Amino acid sequence: MKIRILGCYGGKLPKYRTCSFLINDSLLIDAGAIAAVLNLREQLKIRHILVSHAHLDHIKDIPFLADNIFFENTHSVNVISTHRIIEQMRKHLLNNLIWPDFTIMPTKKAPILKAKPIRVGREIKLDGITVKAIKVNHTVETVGYIIRDGKSAFVYSGDTGPTERLWKEVNKIKNLKAIFIETSFPDGMSRTAEASRHFTPVTMKRELKKINHSHVPIYVYHLKPQYIKAIQKEIKAFRDPNITILAPETIFKF
Ligand SMILES: [Zn+2]
Ligand SMILES: [Zn+2]
Repeated sequence: MKIRILGCYGGKLPKYRTCSFLINDSLLIDAGAIAAVLNLREQLKIRHILVSHAHLDHIKDIPFLADNIFFENTHSVNVISTHRIIEQMRKHLLNNLIWPDFTIMPTKKAPILKAKPIRVGREIKLDGITVKAIKVNHTVETVGYIIRDGKSAFVYSGDTGPTERLWKEVNKIKNLKAIFIETSFPDGMSRTAEASRHFTPVTMKRELKKINHSHVPIYVYHLKPQYIKAIQKEIKAFRDPNITILAPETIFKF
């Protein structure tokens, strides 16, 4: 499995893009950084987008992707998430007001974007990759994703505060190669983090105690760019060689 990190921050500033992980060139987790990173040829390879939740930083490039590939019109891109999250995107983004409804264009039968609702906890298969969505704890309905192929697996936490179910599922995984966990605010902003259901370094570290895989690398992502220095300092202070702050354009192969 190959993972290319297109964007991995919880906000936007020059050089800091919002979350988008590209798997094997055709499967995306979240759509925070498609159009500004991938050229048109690469965008045309995308077949599936797994959406963790409907917050703008995770869906904002879906409209631009649809627009970019519309005239090529060779295939549909599956937009995959829970029924509720898909409905939120339809109602508030692809609503023929903010942007055209590409889920029925050019035709209802062969649209550019095909909405595919999935059930949490149920595995689905996409081009040889097995995907399971698990609900996490954010201010709106949000899922984390467990992704695996025959050889290896990883977990993407999604935006979340303290949560249980995801880690119970993670503890059952064999061949786990990476844990991507969000950390958005520095510890001095723990109230804001709690209210918006995000982690700070201390609450993220506490969360890791729920995981049995002690040697699996931890990659921290979704840092708010304006607080990046403070968060880096606090994570460094743990002196935990297993924890790395994720950098954009990293490529993982496992
Ligand atoms: Zn976010
Ligand atoms: Zn969010």
